[in-house]
Amino acid sequence: MRAAVLRENAEIRVEGLPRRYPELPWREDPLAIEVDYPTPTVGPGKVLMRVLACGVCYTDIDIVEGRVRCKTPLVPGHQIVGRVVEAGPGVGDPVEGEVVGVAWIGEACGRCGYCSTGLENLCDDFRATGCHLDGGYAEYALAHADFVHRIPPSMDYASAAPLLCAGAVGYRALKLADLRDGLRLGLFGFGASAHIVIQVARRLFPSSEIYVFSRSPEHRELAEALGADWAGHPSEDPPGRLDRAIDFTPVGEVTVRALELLERGGVLVVNVIRKQTQIALDYARHLWLERTVRSVANVTRRDVRELLEVAARLGVRTEVQSYPLEEANRALRDLKAARVRGSAVLRTA
Ligand SMILES: [Zn+2]
Ligand SMILES: [Zn+2]
Repeated sequence: MRAAVLRENAEIRVEGLPRRYPELPWREDPLAIEVDYPTPTVGPGKVLMRVLACGVCYTDIDIVEGRVRCKTPLVPGHQIVGRVVEAGPGVGDPVEGEVVGVAWIGEACGRCGYCSTGLENLCDDFRATGCHLDGGYAEYALAHADFVHRIPPSMDYASAAPLLCAGAVGYRALKLADLRDGLRLGLFGFGASAHIVIQVARRLFPSSEIYVFSRSPEHRELAEALGADWAGHPSEDPPGRLDRAIDFTPVGEVTVRALELLERGGVLVVNVIRKQTQIALDYARHLWLERTVRSVANVTRRDVRELLEVAARLGVRTEVQSYPLEEANRALRDLKAARVRGSAVLRTA
């Protein structure tokens, strides 16, 4: 089958960006576009999907550049939308012909304390799609039948793909923020995840004011178009203090800024795997008076399924920039250079 394959970690070479990892090869095309990668075969409990679309996530850049450790050779891609073409022994659901999605958690142990309480995102032994298991930058992909999610029939395949990671992680952050209607929400950073979260929050919590903080004038404009009550630079003072906040940025200083603007008893959720700069907190100024800070790790199946349902019901729209599978490297370069508006998606059919 055709696939875009990572055979060796490399730094993605983008015009205008300096080289950061001299120990790695520096390549414009870190993925090999192959035509004879072995098509996976179904086993018990698995389904084979013809991939229709696969989202390109910033984590894929972390994987290619070796900051997230995965197997090689590897087919990346953990926002897969595909049609089931073969169900393995013992699989009753989904059935052949159904269109399903696969997200980051491809399998989990199913036995530990986390798995048995619906927190498979915290399982020690979970295996990630497009990292420990081959993903969706290919014509076909294999998935565990218990870890696929039905795509609502009203949804366009490419638009559904970004909901499976960017959207679902943002949705989990929104749930962890414990927002209630009427409380004021602040969103820091306005990329693929936040532009979905704002639409969900706007519809589920119509009386809540939503403030968006971004350095980018284009992102602030998009935020206002999607329902922000106020959008400004992170250094600007908003019209009121925040009851809830989500920080989507890799910058430590933004976390500190969000806490400065947080009302007593408020909750800040940090939705990023690693901060590139330190978070320097002063207890009295940033945490005292029952302010809470928490992180988000991965997503559970429940988050993905709820978001797909909510997005279809409430008419959440994702902005998508499409690429053919053969141009997976260009998609990675565009994403790294912040040239993608909304989310990058590979169309494989
Ligand atoms: Zn992702
Ligand atoms: Zn487990």
